Amino acid sequence: MSDRRDFLKKSALLGLTGLAADLIGKDKLSSMENTVNFLADDNAKKFTVPKLPYAYNALEPYIDTKTMQIHHDKHHQAYVDKLNAAVNPSNMNFDLDDDMKCRTVNMGTDMVIRNNLGGHYNHSLFWSTLKPNPKGAPNDPSGLLMEAINKNFKSYETFKNNFSDRAAKFFGSGWCWLVVLEGSTLNIVTTANQDNPLMELGTAPAKPILGIDLWEHAYYLKHQNKRADYIAAWWNVVNWKKVEELFSKGFHR
Ligand code: MN
Repeated sequence: MSDRRDFLKKSALLGLTGLAADLIGKDKLSSMENTVNFLADDNAKKFTVPKLPYAYNALEPYIDTKTMQIHHDKHHQAYVDKLNAAVNPSNMNFDLDDDMKCRTVNMGTDMVIRNNLGGHYNHSLFWSTLKPNPKGAPNDPSGLLMEAINKNFKSYETFKNNFSDRAAKFFGSGWCWLVVLEGSTLNIVTTANQDNPLMELGTAPAKPILGIDLWEHAYYLKHQNKRADYIAAWWNVVNWKKVEELFSKGFHR
């Protein structure tokens, strides 16, 4: 299976849309392991930006309202629009119902699909792993995820420090992720642009369960050049229950 196709399949498993289901065949989706509810419209035959599960201002004061509006409504929408344009059957000369034709397209080197499907996937996961925390309550993982973090990173504090450090030092636009490798081992990885740990990037694919957007559009309005301040604020609004849910399903290639 090609890298691109593998990513597309994994993306479909994550519930991106009915289009992805059509591309790979609905029967192959029956063994879904990694369900993220992206509020996809199975009948739309196109990718759609999921609605936020909270208000634009709900993540204040950690992520500001204006950034959320522009990030979700403009940036994420742009990835989806370009993706829908790129996979339009009339443009790409393939039949959505013909798995082999779709596979041929996706085995190519179409950076438009790679970047925009990645952008759609990454942002959909990003929104779903955030939650309001208006009173600034302590916000830590629990249960089996906390146990795994302590086991893999020696301590939760070490994990947070390592993750923040990797995110702060990452050069340019990209993402920092907490991922699950096969066997439920945790790791911290970074990816450039809109790439994703599910892609074959020279290392073993892994399932992202938490990610922070390191593009300047994610923080520049509020924090300008101070990415470290954005990272420190972001920890307050991580939806650990969602991350635990994703972790509990493991990663099975
Ligand atoms: Mn972004």
